[in-house]
Amino acid sequence: MPQLGFGVYQVPDDDTQRAVEVALEAGYRSIDTAAVYGNERGVGRALAASGLPRNEVFVTTKLWITDLGPTAPYDAIDASLDRLGLDAVDLYLIHWPAPSTDAYLDAWQALESIAADGKARSVGVSNFLPEHLDRVEALGGTIPAVNQIELHPALTNRDSVEANRRLGIATEAWSPLAQGAVLGEPAVTAAAAAHGVSAAQIVLRWHLQHGNVVIPKSVTPARIATNLDVLAFELDPSEMTAIDAIDRGARTGPHPATFHG
Ligand code: NDP
Repeated sequence: MPQLGFGVYQVPDDDTQRAVEVALEAGYRSIDTAAVYGNERGVGRALAASGLPRNEVFVTTKLWITDLGPTAPYDAIDASLDRLGLDAVDLYLIHWPAPSTDAYLDAWQALESIAADGKARSVGVSNFLPEHLDRVEALGGTIPAVNQIELHPALTNRDSVEANRRLGIATEAWSPLAQGAVLGEPAVTAAAAAHGVSAAQIVLRWHLQHGNVVIPKSVTPARIATNLDVLAFELDPSEMTAIDAIDRGARTGPHPATFHG
């Protein structure tokens, strides 16, 4: 899985094809969508138009909360694959645990079968707290490949990152730029000035140096290009520590313990 990919949350389906085409032309080879985003068709059109071999692009989509349970995931993946125009996704995630019931555990076992059927090359979860991961582990089957969680300098989410590491689960950061809210932080702007790059490049580089997978979203071609250009400089330990210290437990999205859609 590429460590730096492209997210399309809140991009209308009509605009998604163009945004993903720009991203693929810029060199992104991982696209993150979800059934609930309503833009899997736009992603599929861009993939088809790109002419890229299927095995050169890593495609992630997600199972929505209303499709949790023992059987609904089978229809949900077929519908997503139909909209994407693909035979299989590279990664299929449970979008949220919605933990007031155990439907997410039934759904996990369905995802294991979906992977066995070849409709998802790997399966994982999103927004799972350590307690939810422990319950998946207790099922005794597959461990999720990925846990995609809200993670950025204002929410370093240390407990979740540590739980992922303990279980051998890759941490993928959603809203890696905090939807722009951390780009004016002094520790970020100081590093940007020192390295002659943008604030967004600094934040993305911080993620990569922490080992996070990132999927920044942009519909702005210049930003799409520069967000990918983060390998030509390196943050030193004092810059990393200063950006770590921005953490104030600030979420841009809902809390996984209480969100039920
Ligand atoms: P991001 O943290 O990626 O921020 C996106 C915002 O930042 C947009 O407003 C974009 O503006 C702006 N932006 C992007 N690049 C730059 C730049 N270089 N300089 C200044 N501003 C910039 O937020 P998202 O919430 O979109 O998260 C990224 C992805 O994570 C989503 O697209 C989705 O794939 C995934 N996600 C998953 C969730 C989950 O529950 N699993 C929840 C939320 C997101 P513009 O587009 O106008 O350029």
